[in-house]
Amino acid sequence: MIALVTGANRGIGREVARQLAEAGHTVLLTARSEAAARAAAGEIGPRAQPLRLDVTSGEDVAAVARRVGGEFGALDVLVNNAAITYDTWQRASTADLDVVREAAETNLYGPWRLTQALLPLLRAGAHPRVVNVSSEAASLTNMGGGTPAYTASKTALNALTRMLAAELRPHGILVNAVCPGWVATDLGGPGGRPVREGARGVVWAATLPDDGPTGGFYRDGRPLPW
Ligand code: NDP
Repeated sequence: MIALVTGANRGIGREVARQLAEAGHTVLLTARSEAAARAAAGEIGPRAQPLRLDVTSGEDVAAVARRVGGEFGALDVLVNNAAITYDTWQRASTADLDVVREAAETNLYGPWRLTQALLPLLRAGAHPRVVNVSSEAASLTNMGGGTPAYTASKTALNALTRMLAAELRPHGILVNAVCPGWVATDLGGPGGRPVREGARGVVWAATLPDDGPTGGFYRDGRPLPW
């Protein structure tokens, strides 16, 4: 199986790449810095192949799609993990909309752009899965007042997940959103659970059986309210 993970040079993305490689899969470990991708892939071993990919760059996305198509001709798993701006300092009523727009560029348009570009390769994959790494903060049921840029981008990512899942179901492509829980990373800060635990639920969605769920929102393999 060939899997591509975005933002995989650190945090949850790197651990997802490590767990997928450990399970025997070939992992295209992407990062916006080529050196960072190489360093992280080097730590994981030969099943991890480094690739430069800034998800906000149309050129990078097109180059990665060409490269993966040329080398493998298909893709089985896309993990849209990269994200920015956990804006605890903002409130929706006064939020800086430039910050909101910037967050959406990475957290929403990035996964959207990349999924579109890789769709022909996913259609050719043996067991195609798309995992959008989201957050319980995005749940309309539980929504509070904080982190407006982050929360709005992840809520929209959840909406994209539902739409893609419905559209791609006939092609056998399973699309799910996964919250990793509160995880101790640069974004999550100290005190969260270890990356190993947070990554596990992402890997679960990336390796679902063909009759697995699609269009769902999960943490640790259990449904979350939208
Ligand atoms: P980190 O901040 O530790 O890592 C974020 C990763 O995204 C880095 O590799 C970063 O690269 C990359 N990235 C940022 N912008 C871009 C871009 N434009 N193109 C490509 N890569 C980019 O975050 P986490 O590991 O904590 O988060 C991973 C996912 O989990 C995110 O989607 C996040 O929203 C979600 N999540 C995390 C929680 C937590 O508690 N940690 C809770 C709920 C959800 P670089 O090193 O270059 O900056």
